[in-house]
Amino acid sequence: MTSSLGPTKPAVWFLTGSQELYGPAALAQVEDDSRELVARLNQTGLVADVIWQPVLASKQAIRGLLARAQADPACVGLITWMHTFSPAKMWLAGLDEVRLPLLHLHTQMADELPWATIDMDFMNLHQSAHGDREFAFATARLGLRRKIVAGSVRDRRVTDRINSWMRAAIGRADLRDSSLVRFGDNMRDVAVTDGDKVEAERVFGTSVQAFGVTELADAVTSVTSSEAANLAAEYEQLYAMAPELRSGGERHAALVYGARQEIALRGFLQAHQAVAFTTNFEDLAGLRQLPGLAVQRLMAQGYGFGAEGDWKTALLVRLAKVMGRGQVGGASLMEDYTYNLVPGEELTLGAHMLEICPSLTSARPALEIHPLSIGAREDPVRLVFTADPGPGLVAGLADMGDRFRLTVNTIELIEPPQPLPCLPVARAVWRPQPDFYTGVECWLEAGAPHHTCLTTALGLAEFEDYAAMTGLELAPITSGTTVASFQRQLRWEDSYYRLNRARL
Ligand code: MN
Repeated sequence: MTSSLGPTKPAVWFLTGSQELYGPAALAQVEDDSRELVARLNQTGLVADVIWQPVLASKQAIRGLLARAQADPACVGLITWMHTFSPAKMWLAGLDEVRLPLLHLHTQMADELPWATIDMDFMNLHQSAHGDREFAFATARLGLRRKIVAGSVRDRRVTDRINSWMRAAIGRADLRDSSLVRFGDNMRDVAVTDGDKVEAERVFGTSVQAFGVTELADAVTSVTSSEAANLAAEYEQLYAMAPELRSGGERHAALVYGARQEIALRGFLQAHQAVAFTTNFEDLAGLRQLPGLAVQRLMAQGYGFGAEGDWKTALLVRLAKVMGRGQVGGASLMEDYTYNLVPGEELTLGAHMLEICPSLTSARPALEIHPLSIGAREDPVRLVFTADPGPGLVAGLADMGDRFRLTVNTIELIEPPQPLPCLPVARAVWRPQPDFYTGVECWLEAGAPHHTCLTTALGLAEFEDYAAMTGLELAPITSGTTVASFQRQLRWEDSYYRLNRARL
């Protein structure tokens, strides 16, 4: 299956701070050391290339390099390290102009102090313990959002944290340059799926653009019969297909129509250079089926999707696709649909009318056709499967009027306790953390949405880093959360966003 994710490996520039005070020999050593440190980082399998940059020892050099980084479309973020002391007034003007994600790596060239031989030459070279404190003051004084990671680059925990931050930076860069196609508008009267699209362009960088669904219906009609037949034949190879849908089966035409929808939708998104899209069952014009299979397949190819015009969830699904690239697991639109409320056995059953991404399963999905009671169209084809068990999270975006709130709840997906032979849609069954009641009560406290992005390919770290990079409010519900602490956090965040409106 082709991917909508870009082909290139992004770059993160590595900036080493120093000063002229120590003389050329010391600066040459700083250069050698920082080159070696970068080489080590690049050997750890990070998702972005770390690009070494010349050692910085003057205000002019710092401003110039930061401006070049900002102007380079391949550069998704910056890592800084003060090998020696680097007086931070030199950094202020340059840093004040930086909009790129910043990771302050607080490390040292050698892990172990040479206790028996240590002298003042060693002390003057390996000064990040205080050089990085000077730099941290500058970034704190400017109020810069940045990620601080302390420790040895030989420590897996350090490089894992750098990698999570890189995933978030790559996701940010993808959305900053992105377009989202909406077929029609929001489902009428629904509040949480709507929001401020001007603010979305500012915060995420995503242009949220509406198109008449008749354009899509026309594109579906324009797909050639042979193209559609070829794709339908591909489906037969890939999925456990219901006999009635197979070539020669009585409902094969419905499958071919599903293939037409996939081809038309992908073509439309490519023509508009869009990475995500929404549909609305209330507004289908000449479409004969609500797109189900087509949407599921496009999500599996890396597109973001939100149902009922929900562009914020479409954006989140795309973000998760990009941040989770290469990871085991998947990401999908999800909806908290119904509960098992038996005391002691509380579970959430998540699903949607049709549109759940098959990246959530390692099994072979079934391809089926069933009636859909809403939308007043022909029966839609869809993939049916159960999401794999294991750790995951659900993330939801809500527009709070003066900011976007990103609520994230870590969850444990489980095998459904019993088979679900009558349920004609893909589904996931999970237990919210820290426990069912705390998880759902906090979710409701936050006013977080019924539509989410469920991902099994990422942890909380990537969402935390992304929220920090973009100034989103993050409301995490995890293993240690209590309702009382969560309520207090929401109140503090309210104050924070109101007091800081001018600088966010
Ligand atoms: Mn829905």
